[in-house]
Formats: sequence, structure tokens, C-alpha cells
Amino acid sequence: MLIINKIINYFNIKLRDIVKNYDVVIIGGGLAGLTLASQLLRDIPDISICLIHDAKFPNEETAFKVGEATIDLGGYYLRELLGDEYLSREHFIKMGMRFIYTNDKLYKEMGIRNFPQKNSYQFERGKLENHFFSLLQDKIDILQNTRFLDVEDEGHFKKIHVVELSKVQKIINSRWIVDASGRKKVISRKYNLSSKGNLPNSSVWFRVKGAVLVDEIYPAEEDNPFYGMDRSYSSLHIDGKGYWIWVLRLSDHTTSVGICFSENIHQFDSLSDLEKTFEWLKTHERVFYDYLLKKQFSILDFKYLRKYASIAQPCISENHWALTGDACIFLDPVYSSGIDLMCIENTFIVDVLAQEKNGQDIKERMAFYNSVISDLVIAYSNVFDKMYEQKDNWYYIFVKYVVDSVFYFGSICPCFMNKGMRDFKNAKIIWDKIHKIYMEYDKVNSILKTKKFSENNRQNNLDLPRFINLSESLFAKINSYLTEPDNDLEKLINLLQDNYQVMCKICEYISSDRNLYDLYIRRDGPPEIFHTSWRYGEFFPNPEMVNRN
Ligand SMILES: Cc1cc2nc3c(=O)[nH]c(=O)nc-3n(C[C@H](O)[C@H](O)[C@H](O)COP(=O)(O)OP(=O)(O)OC[C@H]3O[C@@H](n4cnc5c(N)ncnc54)[C@H](O)[C@@H]3O)c2cc1C
Repeated sequence: MLIINKIINYFNIKLRDIVKNYDVVIIGGGLAGLTLASQLLRDIPDISICLIHDAKFPNEETAFKVGEATIDLGGYYLRELLGDEYLSREHFIKMGMRFIYTNDKLYKEMGIRNFPQKNSYQFERGKLENHFFSLLQDKIDILQNTRFLDVEDEGHFKKIHVVELSKVQKIINSRWIVDASGRKKVISRKYNLSSKGNLPNSSVWFRVKGAVLVDEIYPAEEDNPFYGMDRSYSSLHIDGKGYWIWVLRLSDHTTSVGICFSENIHQFDSLSDLEKTFEWLKTHERVFYDYLLKKQFSILDFKYLRKYASIAQPCISENHWALTGDACIFLDPVYSSGIDLMCIENTFIVDVLAQEKNGQDIKERMAFYNSVISDLVIAYSNVFDKMYEQKDNWYYIFVKYVVDSVFYFGSICPCFMNKGMRDFKNAKIIWDKIHKIYMEYDKVNSILKTKKFSENNRQNNLDLPRFINLSESLFAKINSYLTEPDNDLEKLINLLQDNYQVMCKICEYISSDRNLYDLYIRRDGPPEIFHTSWRYGEFFPNPEMVNRN
């Protein structure tokens, strides 16, 4: 007896007629499912879509889910779907990341002084999803309060079994099914595709009513280059041994606070409820704890997720199913890359469906896209591996951010922002170039992971300034190409070649324990690195945003 029949009998579910046939059924109306539906509609206007969602809109706006910040690629993706006008009017524009590290003696800070040319965002997640729903509800079929039960293959179509709250069951026919059910992973579980990542990192978080302001927690002294500006526009990272804390302003009245920690260093039991989390803060981040206590914010929720890394592959199957969002890959939130990965997965899925509708052969494409995703899993796992362990070393914090941002801003980000994967022949050439950067990145990262790195760089750590303004650095130059994406593939290929040289130069510095600050901020490197990397325009602040300070 099929499992589905057992479920139907057990719950006394009534069967309703088979409803219409769709091109694609998406399971899950979270951000991955909603963005995928929007992108499919935009790129394949005659496509028929059914979205199955086990809850009912509208969502609670603030205390809803994590995933409340984008970085550049995710910001670009949301902007392509919703427009900057809506995003910057209704949500919070972010001024990059701001890293803070304090010990008994010293306060240290690294960040940028300007809003970048292109916006990234922080948002109340429920509100953003509600907006997507309102745009989609008249254009596709959305079955709310309806849960996915099972799927059977039957010739050209799949038979998808779903059940409503009222226990009425429906069977829906669809050519494709996409799992966007988040951590429920309905398809990956069915086909046993899911595995836990190897990372030991967990998180607890809460939302508060009110603005948690970095200028009140750690007021900037006059010798701080960020003195006189509103630093609370940045995603705040407070770093310490085995952990980092996020402080994200979501709106003028709400803030998200979370602690991510390695369970190799901090016991989950010491943070498993709100009271314990405050005790933990008292021990590890006394200044922040005192501030929260003094302000008496009203706390809206408290949630946690242990060992959150999980991976399911392949992303797209010849058997007409696909995975996106947390149902596919989630590794670590430190750089807010969840929406980036969602953008890449969705873009591949949309292209495969579009090509199939045009009568093209999709096998080679699917294999290539799956191999790109699998390269990304390896590369990103490397980014996060053993990172938390050294978050009490200021030189490590600096170097790691530099190397990771060259990796990100120098390869994957310009590639997708310039639609580098749109032409299949070029996509392979481009991916080869990116792969070369990854190989070099891998060499640097394997040095950073060793214990010897902090021992060998003791002096560099002492020499590193307390305040690091990244606005004037090579970071700004690498970033500059993002300010003017123009989808020119030749330019993109040249840029990737240049950025490979930058990564090689960084590798040279790190392998010989030379202080990376000299290359990165003082620009002591050979002139060709700097000339080539900023060939496509100077980094300058977004003129409309400077007045926000
Ligand atoms: C601690 C932490 C911090 C993070 N911070 C960031 C960040 O700053 N930036 C970022 O980009 N990402 C972040 N992420 C990643 C973030 O989780 C993802 O970006 C994003 O939430 C994934 O969205 P999703 O749509 O895949 O999943 P979800 O948002 O979980 O949506 C899945 C939906 O499927 C529905 N569903 C489930 N089962 C069924 C079923 N059987 N039938 C029908 N519907 C179903 C659920 O109701 C749900 O709404 C963070 C993750 C963690 C753990």
C-alpha cells in the first residue's frame, strides 16, 4: 500500500477531484518560493504556477523568521524583482557590515563610511513576504493552509497530493515540482538527498521593540574615523572567541539581535532560553548587556536553531523536481548569503524551465548548473570552516574579511549581477575563471585555518590599527564594478582575470606573513593590481544617501 494511501486512511481525509494541470507546483510560500514564482512569471509569462503554502497570509511582520538582511547579490536580486523604490521606501537601507571587537583594554572597529552605490537592505521578513504575496495573489494559484503530502511520477505529469486544513485532499498535476519548503525539505527528505553540513555552529535570536543603536552602546570617540556619522545603518557584528552577535535594525521601531556560536566552544545549554542568553551576554559582552538592561526594551520573541548548516543536492533533477532556498542549501548566516544562494538556485531553475518550454534539450544545462552549485557548496563551506574559533583575533578578523570579500565581490557577485550565466557557452568560460579564483582562495584559507597563523602574525596583530576604514581600500576598488553592471561579458571576463591576480597577490602576502593591511589599505602592492581592478569606475558614495547621516 502506498504511504499516501495510509496517510489518507489514517487521517480520514476526503478526496476531491483532480484539479487543473500546471507547468510547475512550488511547495512553500516563504521567500524562496515567492521569489521563484515572481521570477518565473517575469521570465516565462505564459507559465502556469501553483504555490502550496501550509499557512495563511498575512504573516506577522516582525517576529517571524530569520534572514533579515541581504548582501550585494541578494540586494540586487530583490531589486530586480521589486524595484529599489519600494525596497528603500518600506525597508532599511544598510551601510555594509561593521565589525566590533572589544577586550578588557581596547575597543576596535572596522567598516565603511559611505552608503555603497547600490543598496543592500535589512527588513522585517514577514512584511517583505506579505508584499510578494500581494503582488502574486491574482497572477498565480496560491493554495493557503494547504500542506504537501506526497508526489508520484505518472508519465509527463507528476501527481502531487496535498491536504487542506479541513482535511480535504487534492491531487494536482504538474510537469515540475519545486521544493521551497525551507527546513521541512519535503522533496529532499522523500529522496534522501539531505545531509547535515560539517559546521558546529548554532544560533539564538530575539527581536526587540525599539532601536538598538551602536552609537549608544559604543559611542565613537573623536579618534574614531567613524565619529560623527550614524553607524547604526550598518549590520553590526560584535565578534568574540567562538561567536559573533548580529544587531540589525529592521525599521525605525524594531531591531533583531542574534548570537551565532560554535558548539565546540560554547555549550548550547548556556544559551537555550532568554534568561540564560542574557547571563551569557553578561559574561561575554558586558557593555552590550548593560546597555540592553538599561534600555529595558520589550522583547518580542526568542528562538534558536542548532547546527543549522544543511545541504541537499542536486539542485535540479532530470526527473523534473528542483530544490531552492533552505530546502537546498544553508551554511552560515555570517555574511547574510542565504538570499544570494536562493537567487542563484532560482535563476538556474527558471532558465531550465524556460529552455524546456522552448523545446531545447536541458540535460547539459542542468548538469552544468548542478556542478556550479556543488562548487559553491565546497567554496562556501570553506569560507565558514573554523572561522568562529578565531573571532577574538583582530588581525584574523581583518584578513578574513578582506579575503572573503575579494572572493565574493571579485567573482560570484559581478558574475550574477552582470548576468554572466545567461549565455551557456560563455557561462562555462566564466565559471572556469571563477574556479581559478576559488583555487587560490582555498590556498589562503587553508593557511588562515591553522593555529600557526595567529602565532606567526602576532606582530601584525599588534601593528594593525584599532580602526579600519574600508571605504578607502582595495575593497572599494573591487566593489566598483558592481556600481555599474552592464552585462558586458568581455569586461566581466577581464575583471575576473584581474581579480585572480588580486587573490594571488593576497596569497603571496599571507604565505609570507606580510601584513595584509599594507597591501589592502596602504596600497603597497604593485600598481597593476590597483589599476586593473578599478578600471571600470571609481567607487564613490551614493550621492542620494550621504545626507542620511
Ligand atoms: C540564524 C540564521 C540567520 C540567518 N540570517 C540570514 C540573513 O541575514 N540573510 C539571508 O539572506 N539569509 C539568512 N538566513 C538564511 C535564511 O533562513 C534564508 O535566507 C531564508 O529564510 C530561506 O527561505 P526559504 O523560503 O527557503 O524558507 P522559509 O522561509 O522557511 O519558507 C518555507 C515555507 O514553506 C512552508 N512549508 C513548509 N512545509 C510545507 C509543506 N509541507 N507544505 C506547504 N508549505 C510548507 C512554510 O510555511 C514556510 O513558510 C539565516 C538563517 C539562520 C538559521
